[in-house]
Amino acid sequence: MIDQYDREINYLRVSVTDRCNLRCTYCMPKQGISQIGHDDILRYEEILRICRIATGEGITKVRLTGGEPLTRRGLAEFVASLRTIPELKDISLTTNGILLEAHAEQLFAAGIRRINISLDSLNAEKYARITRGGDIHAVLRGIRKVREVGFAPIKINIVAISGFNDDEILDFARLTLANPYQIRFIELMPLGTAGAENDGRYLPNSVIRQRIETLGPLEALNGGRGKTEGPARIYRLPGGAGEIGFISPVSRHFCHSCNRLRLTAEGHLRACLLSDDETDLKGPLRAGRSDGEIGALIREVIARKPKRHEIACDEDHIKKCVKEMPAIGG
Ligand code: SAM
Ligand code: SF4
Repeated sequence: MIDQYDREINYLRVSVTDRCNLRCTYCMPKQGISQIGHDDILRYEEILRICRIATGEGITKVRLTGGEPLTRRGLAEFVASLRTIPELKDISLTTNGILLEAHAEQLFAAGIRRINISLDSLNAEKYARITRGGDIHAVLRGIRKVREVGFAPIKINIVAISGFNDDEILDFARLTLANPYQIRFIELMPLGTAGAENDGRYLPNSVIRQRIETLGPLEALNGGRGKTEGPARIYRLPGGAGEIGFISPVSRHFCHSCNRLRLTAEGHLRACLLSDDETDLKGPLRAGRSDGEIGALIREVIARKPKRHEIACDEDHIKKCVKEMPAIGG
């Protein structure tokens, strides 16, 4: 479906849970976020129904995220059920990788091929610090396992934080010389209450790019603008087996090409990560509304999708208005 700003909306990100086994400082407050009650979380069959109806409105790609999606039991079976929707061409997963080693084979068998893994440091002590207790070795085993099993592409997401991991930029970039990973640098967004903790630690991707270019010229993978894959601009170091991506929601917002909707863990549909305008789908679903009625609600959300977010112009706005990421689905 095309929205009023001529964007084709075909991508749905689904937060299958707001719970997480980590507490990354830029994402969650130390004590975690208030967790949604068991009955208020969408059941898998409800998510499946929403996805089926959404494909009727033009959605062809679904990404499962959270919170940490692998903390929810039965995820692989749910993926297999999503595969029964013929219009759904792509089902992908974003995970912190902690539980990945154990789930990789099942997820692959269920049909996931594209996987994004978050890893903000290559140093065990720093990783534990930023995640408030995470074990980097579990993530590294998970990455090895998905490579062995045959997932592709394997994308590794790094949130760049000044004074924390800016000294590791070149180490991350060098990983792409010998490994077929796409290493993606994401600009830190000042979200929710967790934002305050990282005040002033934002690092623009332009700085990261300059540093990486000390290793060699970055070859743009799509003409002069970099291969655009969703919001990422993609490049390669000379002779590199992998790719380097930049996702710059703050310095270079990509709202003009945003093709996404987000389904929150409690069943609300959002047209923009950075706007708290949400439409409840769970209530109408549980009240027995028809597929046609739910489809109409989805169309209304698309019709209200804002032209752009205000993050670059007014960071205070975003700190005040936006919920925590895990509930929305990052
Ligand atoms: N738990 C999974 C994970 O960490 O990959 C999936 C959910 S997480 C909310 C999705 C992505 O959002 C991660 O790559 C994470 O680094 C990113 N993220 C969370 N808070 C962010 C923030 N304040 N700024 C930029 N990216 C953020
Ligand atoms: Fe959990 Fe992912 Fe948020 Fe880290 S970024 S706290 S792993 S949801």
